[in-house]
Amino acid sequence: MADMDDLPDLGVADEFVAATYLKDQGHAYRNIGKLHCPTCGDYRRMDMAVRLKPYGSSADPPMLVLLTCVQCDTLFTAVIYEGPEGRSLALLPSTYGGLTTVQPEHKASCQRFSAQIR
Ligand SMILES: [Zn+2]
Repeated sequence: MADMDDLPDLGVADEFVAATYLKDQGHAYRNIGKLHCPTCGDYRRMDMAVRLKPYGSSADPPMLVLLTCVQCDTLFTAVIYEGPEGRSLALLPSTYGGLTTVQPEHKASCQRFSAQIR
């Protein structure tokens, strides 16, 4: 199993895209990356199930991916969507507190991402 430090941070838009770029709709992948889990209170490995990815090897919206914390099974719904500033990443945790624990550098990355792949 890969070292946690080597795993992509799925809360960073660029790393999320890199981790999902060559994955296929309808498939599930184990330990695909790491994400800050509000239930565990720390970074955890995530399993990924790709539910909607109509354009193959791209990050074009719409894209819907489910992430599951391997330690506590907290579910995150990740969406690549066409936002007001271009393509954006939203991470929606199934527990309270998740959105408020997103770290400032992650928000900045999402904004850069929006501008970058418009
Ligand atoms: Zn967890």
